[in-house]
Amino acid sequence: MSKIMTMGEILVEIMTTEVGQSFRKPGALAGPFPSGAPAIFIDQVAKLNQPCGIISSVGDDDFGALNLYRLSNDGVDISGISINKKIATGTAFVTYQKNGSRDFIFNITNSACAHLSLTPSAKLLLNNCKHFHVMGSSLFSFRIIDEIKNAIEIVKANGGTISFDPNVRKEMLKIPEMREALNFILEYTDIFLPSGADISLLTDSNKEDEAIEEILSLGVREIALKRGKQGGSFYDANQQISLPAFVSEEVDPTGAGDCFGATFVVCRLQGMSPEESLRYANASGALAVSHKGPMEGASTFEDLNHFISQQA
Ligand code: ATP
Ligand code: MG
Repeated sequence: MSKIMTMGEILVEIMTTEVGQSFRKPGALAGPFPSGAPAIFIDQVAKLNQPCGIISSVGDDDFGALNLYRLSNDGVDISGISINKKIATGTAFVTYQKNGSRDFIFNITNSACAHLSLTPSAKLLLNNCKHFHVMGSSLFSFRIIDEIKNAIEIVKANGGTISFDPNVRKEMLKIPEMREALNFILEYTDIFLPSGADISLLTDSNKEDEAIEEILSLGVREIALKRGKQGGSFYDANQQISLPAFVSEEVDPTGAGDCFGATFVVCRLQGMSPEESLRYANASGALAVSHKGPMEGASTFEDLNHFISQQA
């Protein structure tokens, strides 16, 4: 029982090089960068020197090889990633709007990672897992939802804990089975990691304080809420802590939430206090936004300590 595990999409991200550039005409692109919310999360876990692995699938192509190399080089156990000979690795193409928002063209549901499964190697990893992280973005097919539910049950039966980042697209909630699946996962969740208004995605109330109370009353032990440039907050039954964001030049916001979540979970599992964990998570998010490419800004503890000491 030692690893942190996750399961879900692995893809490459290819982005426009200019803000305001559109895909409706040819232009310069940057990438491919290794990506996929669970992949970014687990890479950040590995960079903090925590044993970890991911269950997924990539195509037998260079986009898959790029991801496998990066993840294993950073210390992620890739034995739960199968290679699909017939279907290509997932892709995301990103444009940045002048108002700071991003638009994505995804090819995930028809890519290799949509066919991930609990292979014998994946089950072996889950049996040696102390914590399992669920990304809402990974719940894009009922088959994957079933596999994630199976994984949660294996980890919980072994005494492990669960974290959940509900980064689902709002349209997904209109599917009744999807809401049911999210509620199922929330019931098993120990650490909830929503971003901004997502705190009330699954609650009756859409007021932040009431939503927090509702979630804690479900048995969720702690909540770390991401607030972008405003930093982050921690809530449990006894206390609430809010810390401002660190000063950082935002080059590319993608992946900040995933790095924040990974760092918070690793720090808490290593026994750090909620406040210290939140400080490291904020630093991890701030460093993530200062790098172009979703996984490029993942940090080691040395990076985080250096960054924090510079700001003091
Ligand atoms: P994404 O889904 O793009 O990965 P998110 O919306 O889930 O991101 P954010 O709240 O944007 O998550 O960012 C996560 C954390 O990163 C924040 O809580 C904060 O600590 C840090 N962060 C984000 N943006 C900035 C910024 N511009 N400056 C400093 N820190 C930031
Ligand atoms: Mg997010």
